[in-house]
Amino acid sequence: MEILRLGIDGQLSVDPSDVETASLDFGLLTRGQPLAVLHPVSAQDISQVVKAVYGSNQGMTVSARGHGHSINGQAQTTNGVVIQMSGRKGGNKPPRPRVWSEERYVDVWGGELWIDVLKSTLEYGLAPKSWTDCLYLSVGGTLSNAGISGQAFNHGPQISNVYELDVVTGKGEVLTCSEDENTELFHAVLGGLGQFGIITRARISLEPAPKMVRWIRVLYSNFSAFTSDQEHLISLHAEPSNQKFDYVEGFVIVDEGLINNWRSSLLSPQNPVKISTLFPSGGVLYCLEIAKNYHESTAQTIDQEVEFLLKKLNFISTSGFTTDLLYVDFLDRVHKAELKLRSKGLWEVPHPWLNLFIPSSKIAEFDKGLFKGILGNKTSGPILIYPMNKNKWDHRSSVVTPDEGVFYLVALLRSALDNEEETQSLEYLNNQNRQILRYCDEAGIKVKRYLPHYTTQQEWMDHFGNKWDRFYEMKMEFDPRHILASGQRIFTPTFPSSSNMPS
Ligand code: FAD
Repeated sequence: MEILRLGIDGQLSVDPSDVETASLDFGLLTRGQPLAVLHPVSAQDISQVVKAVYGSNQGMTVSARGHGHSINGQAQTTNGVVIQMSGRKGGNKPPRPRVWSEERYVDVWGGELWIDVLKSTLEYGLAPKSWTDCLYLSVGGTLSNAGISGQAFNHGPQISNVYELDVVTGKGEVLTCSEDENTELFHAVLGGLGQFGIITRARISLEPAPKMVRWIRVLYSNFSAFTSDQEHLISLHAEPSNQKFDYVEGFVIVDEGLINNWRSSLLSPQNPVKISTLFPSGGVLYCLEIAKNYHESTAQTIDQEVEFLLKKLNFISTSGFTTDLLYVDFLDRVHKAELKLRSKGLWEVPHPWLNLFIPSSKIAEFDKGLFKGILGNKTSGPILIYPMNKNKWDHRSSVVTPDEGVFYLVALLRSALDNEEETQSLEYLNNQNRQILRYCDEAGIKVKRYLPHYTTQQEWMDHFGNKWDRFYEMKMEFDPRHILASGQRIFTPTFPSSSNMPS
């Protein structure tokens, strides 16, 4: 009631449909029970609510929610307020992106979706450098994790491309932080799983926006040829732009169904080729997905540059799929797949996703154990696999990655379907996820989970390893009552009268 009486410019809602939306996320695996939903228009709104919760003795919590694309309730809360950062509701609205074209950066509201950041910067012929595959994610949400896609080998994750943040801490203070100001907070918040503050503004680095993209997919049946080529391509990161690709990803092909390939369909009107006709013998295939950006001025040399780079690769020579498309259509490619799945009722289903960072030295073992072992020939969703260079990740951020110069993302993006097929059931997929983690553990593959989810503090301590002490220290300083992002289940909220030690 106290919070409802606060004079805020945004909207504090207890509307059942708002509360219902904030109770769920993309994963559809857990349900929160928020008391209210705040649609803020400024850092001030958020600060007022956080201060009220900080001062209350009811054990309340506050969770920022971007686009709710988490899997395991990370943006949910029970007994608290969800701050719905994305979407513009009501009369007053949060600030629009402000582009600084000379300086080549943009200031954006923490709840801004990346698709809207892109649209705003394109008006100035500029674009952010590092992306996620899906653009319907919020800036604050991806910066709280890392934000990765095929550009990460070159530009680092999105958290490596931020100059400055405004943050509302767990005490309700509004602080600006950067490399030069409140430095510890700046690095802690990046990849910080929402634990230290709510990002209300991010200043993001820009580059001249390419006009077009040549998007190429080639196939391998030999895993080691596939990964050697991927690692060769990412080793070119320091070369001039005409001597490297701009995007390097890859995925595993087990079969061609819609649910398996929504993320990276090989087929296009220009390339109506069926993989089964190319490789009737079946088995696991690996698809290298690469792209080169170009402008009108470089359109003449693109064929030559691509040919030069492809010549060094060892893919199956008959397996090239090439498409030229607008830069914006390339970046937004996943949205089309989303719409297709939605139209078939295959989007709003449980998603027991598992995202792992695997050290490069163990990726062949992982292939044997997983793609040629545990998974069998059913995957229930796309499986992405691509390497990144660790030197593009700032070790001062909160995110944890394997201890090797090159590590892979393996993303098992699976959907559980309620049909007769046992291998597509939620229970089966959950069990398989546990089996995969157990396998890695037993085989000594030191994986780190991306978009991590654990339920005990000991597991979190193991996850953070030697970063835990600093993580804990930062938590004590910036959110001493553990009221922020409790859906991550790292810390338990404390009451003013009790000690600040987590249980
Ligand atoms: P939410 O799920 O709403 O929030 C995530 C966490 O961040 C929560 O703990 C929340 O409290 C916190 N948070 C949210 N906003 C703020 C804020 N302003 N300040 C502080 N904390 C905040 N990730 C990649 O890296 N690369 C990809 O290519 C990629 N593709 C995806 C595709 C799909 C279809 C989906 C569903 C997810 C994908 N993701 C990808 C994962 C995505 O980065 C995470 O889900 C991330 O959480 C962003 O989602 P969101 O903005 O909806 O955040």
